[in-house]
Amino acid sequence: MNLFKPDCHYTTVLFPGTENYPTLTVAVNALIQELQELSNNGMIINNILWNFELFFSSDWKFLAICLGFNAANSNYFCPWCEITKNQRGNGQVDWVISKSMSILNENPIAYPGHKLPPLFNMISLKNHVPDKLHIMLRITDRLWELVLQEIKNEGLFNDISRNIIIKEMEKLKIRFEFWKIRGTENWDYTSLMGDDKLRVLQNFNLAKLFDPERAALIKSLWNGFAELYDLLGEIKTDPQYFRLKAKVWYELFLKKTVIDPETNNILEQTLSIIRCNPIYLCLVSHVWEFMLIHKRWGLNAFSCSAVEKKNHNHVCYFFKKTLKNGENFQNKTSAICEILEHENRLLFYTQNNVSLSYPKPQNIHIL
Ligand SMILES: [Zn+2]
Repeated sequence: MNLFKPDCHYTTVLFPGTENYPTLTVAVNALIQELQELSNNGMIINNILWNFELFFSSDWKFLAICLGFNAANSNYFCPWCEITKNQRGNGQVDWVISKSMSILNENPIAYPGHKLPPLFNMISLKNHVPDKLHIMLRITDRLWELVLQEIKNEGLFNDISRNIIIKEMEKLKIRFEFWKIRGTENWDYTSLMGDDKLRVLQNFNLAKLFDPERAALIKSLWNGFAELYDLLGEIKTDPQYFRLKAKVWYELFLKKTVIDPETNNILEQTLSIIRCNPIYLCLVSHVWEFMLIHKRWGLNAFSCSAVEKKNHNHVCYFFKKTLKNGENFQNKTSAICEILEHENRLLFYTQNNVSLSYPKPQNIHIL
């Protein structure tokens, strides 16, 4: 129950700077030692020895960095199997988890694409679980991008279409704008936030932009993904059923357009030219495996949404309450220290059952 509450997630490491392997190696050094110890020896609490099974869940970039694995656009792009770029999209999607942490521990470059020793090498690769939230965010981004791209390809990306989109968004109560990038003829647009993305996917009326056939085809792709996303969160979903569904969806996604040059009739419809994105492969090939392996918890348990919310809370606290690093970065006025101290105080209140809200003070007029 507590997994979904940001206040029940605890910060162990918070650092300023960029997300990269060398910085992380330093920042998580002490944490890694403790995790290693927990994993090897367990912990004795009230004379009971507790053993620990550790899990890892994060967005794609962080996962790749922590695995010492190369960027998503290089030839070997999957953290769990050895598929290469050329093999992607050839219809064969039966890739299963084939790498293992113990092999990486013996030789960090045992698999192509792995360049550095994994940081959390005490956590098995099967317990490095893809995060549902980031899968959803990335795929909906791409689905929306494809719609805009298609309008552009047809030469219809004009004020009329832009207004239709804005009006449709208004109906869904989503603030959405287009603007011209300065000095160019290109347009940029508001990026959709988490929940808005799902709302667009479920409710945006595509028939206002495309002919009925085309609208129906894109809608079926959108609905297919929305359905997969729902299934993903359900603990009772049969992994094999999900595997089948995902495969069908992926095939729809890969469809090509063939136009009869004489009659100009569309013989076969296309939706997109697939850009190399490991997330699709992960959704189609590996998610069902993770559902099977972690059936006990369900993939919802590994969702990063509460952690993202916590991060949001930290950012809010940073702007509202801290001295925003004051004059000196290293001393006590460091925002990092302030945020962590704040969190420690909250932790104290939670553990000691102290109420965090008090009735508002009332004005009493004494005559
Ligand atoms: Zn793979």
